[in-house]
Amino acid sequence: MKNKPVLNLVIPCYNEEQALPYTEKVLNEKMKQLMEDGLVDKKSRVVLVNDGSKDRTWEAITEMHDTNPMYVGIKLSRNKGHQNALLAGLMYAKDHADIAISMDADLQDDIQVIDDMIEKYKKGAEIVYGVRSSRVKDSFFKRFTAEGFYHFMSLMGVDVVFNHADCRLMSHLALEGLAEYKEVNLFLRGIVPQIGYQTDIAYYERNERVAGESKYPLKKMLSFAMDGITSFSVKPLRMIASIGFVILLLSFIILIYSVIMKLMGNTVSGWTFIVCSIWLIGGIQTLCLGVIGEYIGKIYNESKHRPRFIVEKTID
Ligand code: UDP
Ligand code: MG
Repeated sequence: MKNKPVLNLVIPCYNEEQALPYTEKVLNEKMKQLMEDGLVDKKSRVVLVNDGSKDRTWEAITEMHDTNPMYVGIKLSRNKGHQNALLAGLMYAKDHADIAISMDADLQDDIQVIDDMIEKYKKGAEIVYGVRSSRVKDSFFKRFTAEGFYHFMSLMGVDVVFNHADCRLMSHLALEGLAEYKEVNLFLRGIVPQIGYQTDIAYYERNERVAGESKYPLKKMLSFAMDGITSFSVKPLRMIASIGFVILLLSFIILIYSVIMKLMGNTVSGWTFIVCSIWLIGGIQTLCLGVIGEYIGKIYNESKHRPRFIVEKTID
């Protein structure tokens, strides 16, 4: 751990030409302050990743780099989505910096949190999660859906930090750990807690977007949540087996019920046989699907080639 770490501030940008002038102004100030306070090294950079924007974002980034070499630009060949753009920036930071902090281009997350994050890094944390202290500034709808998202994720067996989005500090060590995860369906909020090491939390306020509009409409949010669940948990597959088991149990109750009905003479001929068959076969089929699901879950976990462990230290 270094006293004056080289910081790379990683910022994915998709159609952010309207937000970038503001971002540049604020970051010029902030980086200057961090360097003058001796919190970060003078070689620190702001890494802007252009995620295949359709507007003049890349031109804006190029101009920023030309006027101030503190800005580094990475241009992806096409739009690959927030998570992939972020990963591209983080992997650059892994090779060029001691710590990386990820932020959104609109600077909705209060950047004063950077000081606190670096403090916590200096106290030994390898990962510092930025967590929103409150959601009072969100609309009711956004708050409801966002909080529902975190609850649902943990219900589905995905280990996520509550109210933590993608604003976080990662040390060089943590970035090397992240690089071990080769999966294609990227859900960083799920991967990062799996890396391990000492972690900490820094609280911040989130403001409204200054310019441009949100790139996360409800449709994208839902598919993001779906991605998170299906990339991290085999719980939905397990649920199939449980449902099958319940149906099978029910079929025994139905069996008894239909036999009683038959004995009481309340049935037309053939009814008992058909009703029992439907329930029994339905239960067995669903249970079998669950068993197959269990194997698919295993294959799926194997195919991700995730690291089985990451060694923090060896003394020999
Ligand atoms: N973003 C990206 N690629 C995309 C969509 C979004 O790089 O395909 C970036 C975007 O430029 C921003 C960040 O991801 O820096 C978060 O997006 P946004 O601020 O629109 O999300 P919100 O804050 O509304 O959830
Ligand atoms: Mg935003």
